[in-house]
Amino acid sequence: MLQESKLEALAPYRPRKGEECGIFGVFGHPDAAKLTYFGLYALQHRGQESAGIAVSDRSQLRHYKHMGLVPDIFKEETLQALRGDLSIGHVRYSTTGSSLLCNAQPFVVSHGGDYYGIAHNGNLVNAVPLRYELEAQGAIFQSTMDTEVIMHLLARNAGCGIEEALVRSLGRIKGAYSLVMCTKDKLIGIRDPRGFRPLCLGQLNGGYVLSSETCAFDLIEADYIRDVEPGEILIIDEHGLRSLHPFPPAKPAYCIFEFIYFARPDSNIFGQNVYLFRKRLGHLLAREHASIKADLVMPFPDSGNYAALGFAEASQIPMEMGVIRNHYVGRTFIQPSQAMRDFGVRVKLNPVRELLQGKRIALVEDSIIRGTTTRTRINALRQSGAKELHMLVSCPPHRFPCPYGIDFSTKGELIAASHSVEEIRKFIGLDSLNYLSLDGLLEGARCSGGDHPYCLACFNGEYSVPQEGQMRKDCFEAF
Ligand code: SF4
Repeated sequence: MLQESKLEALAPYRPRKGEECGIFGVFGHPDAAKLTYFGLYALQHRGQESAGIAVSDRSQLRHYKHMGLVPDIFKEETLQALRGDLSIGHVRYSTTGSSLLCNAQPFVVSHGGDYYGIAHNGNLVNAVPLRYELEAQGAIFQSTMDTEVIMHLLARNAGCGIEEALVRSLGRIKGAYSLVMCTKDKLIGIRDPRGFRPLCLGQLNGGYVLSSETCAFDLIEADYIRDVEPGEILIIDEHGLRSLHPFPPAKPAYCIFEFIYFARPDSNIFGQNVYLFRKRLGHLLAREHASIKADLVMPFPDSGNYAALGFAEASQIPMEMGVIRNHYVGRTFIQPSQAMRDFGVRVKLNPVRELLQGKRIALVEDSIIRGTTTRTRINALRQSGAKELHMLVSCPPHRFPCPYGIDFSTKGELIAASHSVEEIRKFIGLDSLNYLSLDGLLEGARCSGGDHPYCLACFNGEYSVPQEGQMRKDCFEAF
C-alpha cells in the first residue's frame, strides 16, 4: 500500500474518473448522518472501495471518509459526531490500479468563508484539458479525480453566488455526472444534460433525500417523488425546492448497462423497474435462441438470476441454481487486480456437482466483459461433470469502451472488441455462445420504432459526447 502511494505520488498526472459510484443526500432531517449511512449501505453494490459522509449543522461541515465497506468505516460514535440535518454521502467503485484515500469522496473544500461538499457518479470526458488549464492558472489539486475539477471551477465562480457559479462551472464540463452537493445550508442534486447516470428525489418526514437508486429510499422508508431530470440543477433549502434548467436540452443517453448489470434489481431507475427489465431480456433471449436444447437453465448468481428466470419461463426449461454463491465475498467484476478477481471467482461460486452431472445446461449471464471470469466459472462447471454448456448473454457483445464511468474504459478490457463470437466461445470453453441482439435489448427496454433515450455506445460505438483531451490512439486508453 505504501509502495502504491509512492508510485501515485511520483507518477505524472493521470486523472482517475468519477466512475461508477453511489451517491446519497439528505436535507432537513435530524438524523441526516445515520440516514446517509443507511442510504450508502443500500447502495454498497455501486462501490466497495471507499465511502464517506459529510454533514452540515448550518455552521460547520464535518466529514469522515475511509477505504473499505460502509459498515466497516462508520461506527455509532462516528455518526454521532457528524451532527447536522443536511448531509451527502458517497460509495466509490474500484478499478484496476491504485486506490487512495485522497480519491475518496465526498470532496469537501472551504473557499471564501464558505464550504462546499461534492459527491460524483460518472466520468467527465474533458477533465484532462480542464485540469491542465486550471493548473496553468495556479490551481493545486489534492487528488487525481476528475471530480475535483468541478470544485476548482466552482471556486473560481463563487463570487457570483451559488446558482450562477453552478451554471458557469457545469457549463464547462462534459460527460457523465450525477452529483449531490452541499453548502452550509443547501442540498443540491444535479444530472448532466444527457442523464447518463440515475439520480432520484424522495421525501421523508418533511425532509428531502437524493439517491442514485430507489432501493435506498425503501430501506429508510422514504417516498419516491421523481427523478432529477437530465440537465436539472435541483436546489433544496429552507425555502423548499428550486429547479434550474440552464442548459439547452440534449437527447437523453441513459446508461442501459445500469439495467443489465449495475443497478440493484429492487430499484426503479430511468422510470423502469430493474428486476422486470432483466426478466424481459430473458424472455427475449429465449425467443431469439429458441433452438437451444437444454435440460436445465441456470444463472451465475446474482446478476444473471433475473434474465435466467425470464429465459426459463419463456423456454419452459426448468431452472435450477446450479452454483451456490458465498454471499460474503465482494463482486468479482470490481476487485482491484486480476489476481484477486480469479481468486474471487473460486471463493464466490461453488457448483452443485450432483445437479450438473451429465446435463445439458443453458447458462444465462448478464454480460461478458473480459471473459476471464466467465472462463474460470465454465471450467469449474466442466469439472463438475456438465455434459453441454450453452451460454446466453442478456445483452449484445461489448465491443467498445465506456468513457462515461463504467469499468471498461479501454478496448483492451473488452474481449469482444478484438474477438469474434466464435473466438470468445472457444476461449471460454463453451458448446455455444448466444447474445441478445441490439433490437432485442431495445425491445426489452420497451423502445421499438427507432427512437429511444438510452446510451448504447459500448455496443454500437456511437458516442453522444466524445472524449476530449490527451487521448492515445484508441481514444479511451486508461487514464
Ligand atoms: S457506453 Fe455502455 S456502459 Fe457506458 S454509459 Fe453507455 S451504455 Fe452505459
